[in-house]
Amino acid sequence: MTDIKSMTLPELRNFLQSMGEPAFRGKQVFSWLSRGVSSFDEMSNLPLTLRERLKETCALSVPSAARKQVSARDGTIKYLWELADGNCIESVLMRYRHGNTVCISSQVGCRMGCAFCASTVAGKVRDLTPGELLDQVIFTQKDSGAPISNIVLMGIGEPMDNLDAVLKFLEIVNCPDGLNIGMRHISLSTCGVLPGIRRLAELELQLTLSVSLHAPDSETRSRLMPVNRAYDVEDLFAACHEYFEKTGRRISFEYAMIDGVNDQDWQADLIAKRLRGMPGHINLIPLNDVAESPFRPSRRTAAFQKRLESHGLTATVRRSLGGDIDAACGQLRRKAEAEKGENSQ
Ligand code: SAH
Repeated sequence: MTDIKSMTLPELRNFLQSMGEPAFRGKQVFSWLSRGVSSFDEMSNLPLTLRERLKETCALSVPSAARKQVSARDGTIKYLWELADGNCIESVLMRYRHGNTVCISSQVGCRMGCAFCASTVAGKVRDLTPGELLDQVIFTQKDSGAPISNIVLMGIGEPMDNLDAVLKFLEIVNCPDGLNIGMRHISLSTCGVLPGIRRLAELELQLTLSVSLHAPDSETRSRLMPVNRAYDVEDLFAACHEYFEKTGRRISFEYAMIDGVNDQDWQADLIAKRLRGMPGHINLIPLNDVAESPFRPSRRTAAFQKRLESHGLTATVRRSLGGDIDAACGQLRRKAEAEKGENSQ
């Protein structure tokens, strides 16, 4: 079966033309797909014969919400989507003043192995397709009724480890005939896979690159993030400088505050030193307690923030949403997997 949801508009146009259809059908089908139709029958401006042919040759993915948790505090909704092959992924809808934002997963599981992260505990199962990335946005919007204006690629998985699919997805959501979400409303977060950062820099997209820094010194960072042994933090900073020079876009650095590990003043000083010459924004994240992890939340976030600011950096402390619903990274999927395991025993 052909995966038409993973096609960009030009690809879809070619595909339909190869079936003997006129070029304008591309746009029609593309915009129906972006609206999240659940069957080809809903594509009411297509001739019946074409709808039948599409039904026979193409897969139309409709993920089902295996679980849904709504925060009573702030309206955050966490979805556990079941994909066509039975795998599950998470997406989170967050309601900010600047617009509704959906945080999507890029892979089923993750192979990056960060020591504090729940998403990576069981490794990576497979990459998501562009259509499965898209479905998270479409069906979150459709189910919640909240029009989505922002997307963050900060859910389960490492986007740079599935970059071809991610780039295609970006083209699809950005397309004016589809969801038409501007690149400036999209953020992509990476643990620091340098070839991916370099490839993205070449494309000069207007999206926001977030880099999960978590420590400015090699020793601490290698302890927290195995990726640092392949791509050292010094090279990471160099790549960030290059990225900024090429794109002119300010990078946002994620920094989960961990008690006694990465929250010392000398580490704030080192961040400032390594960022010299580029504007950077440091997003301090209160560490989410993960049962499997030995790390505890820092108690000196405010002092660390002050220290960063004393160097002229901008540092904010992330407001935590959905604290009552396991909204933090990978926790709902872990829970569901664990329960599945218990049930099958
Ligand atoms: N793989 C990508 C994107 C997914 S993780 C990346 O590493 O950037 C999204 C963010 O959540 C990353 O900054 C990640 O380091 C952070 N994170 C993971 N587990 C966390 C935890 N227990 N507490 C706080 N932040 C966490």
